Amino acid sequence: MKLLRIGAPGTEKPAALVDDTHYADLSDVVSDFDEEFFGSGGLNRIAPIVAQRAASGAVLPLGDQRIGSPIARPHQIICVGLNYADHAAESGQAVPDEPILFTKSPNTLIGPNDDVRIPRGATKPDWEVELGIVIGKRTTYLDTVEQAAEHIAGYVLVNDVSERAFQMERGGQWLKGKSAETFNPAGPWLVTQDEVADVRDLGMWLDVNGIRRQTGSTSTMIFDPYFIVHYISQFMVLEPGDLINTGTPPGVGLGFNPPIWLQVGDVMTLGIEGLGTQRQTVIAPR
Ligand code: ZN
Repeated sequence: MKLLRIGAPGTEKPAALVDDTHYADLSDVVSDFDEEFFGSGGLNRIAPIVAQRAASGAVLPLGDQRIGSPIARPHQIICVGLNYADHAAESGQAVPDEPILFTKSPNTLIGPNDDVRIPRGATKPDWEVELGIVIGKRTTYLDTVEQAAEHIAGYVLVNDVSERAFQMERGGQWLKGKSAETFNPAGPWLVTQDEVADVRDLGMWLDVNGIRRQTGSTSTMIFDPYFIVHYISQFMVLEPGDLINTGTPPGVGLGFNPPIWLQVGDVMTLGIEGLGTQRQTVIAPR
């Protein structure tokens, strides 16, 4: 299934995409795609309903309605840093022996085509196309990497927008450069695991103003999604609906010489094979 949330910010309705241009509204059977939904077996519950509505033509045209983040605000967003060897190199950092983890404020989450706002005082705003993992059930101390698959609801395209000066020049920890308002576009849909042929072989790209900046593939990840979920579960409890941003391939603005930073009016377009595309316009600080 491809799950999405449609409508104005804060009042999105849960739905499932049934073809390229139509969706089945699910707001009569599901309140939201949130912790309660994923944790109570919601995916299994709605699957026959979506199939029945698609078959009977009980669908609506998507048109130009706003699409929100495909998941409600999660309990936490965890990010993996430097998870592509070639991106570590362009950042001038060593390939890590273990995943680098940092958190991103959950209220950064926005729709895939919403505006990205430059924070006050920012001088080095940057982009990062990434594969996002959405957790399907409560996850703690997994015994094996293989078990991780049972704990993943699906995958989502994300842009881990970053302000490099806040991240690296303002003392300790990356949180400051990652948690500004609007810094986590997600979507357009959550693609359930069964519809992703091989999560370890997905092409990904990001353009700024139509110029290709990032080209990569999940096949060059240092730590794959199953490893990451197992690994994180040894340190903290993952809740249903939690989001994990799994790191970015080469081609971020920081990696250019001289670096390229986002400017007001820039347009970012990005995509991952099978997970859809996004488009954000960069707007001025408040
Ligand atoms: Zn990132």
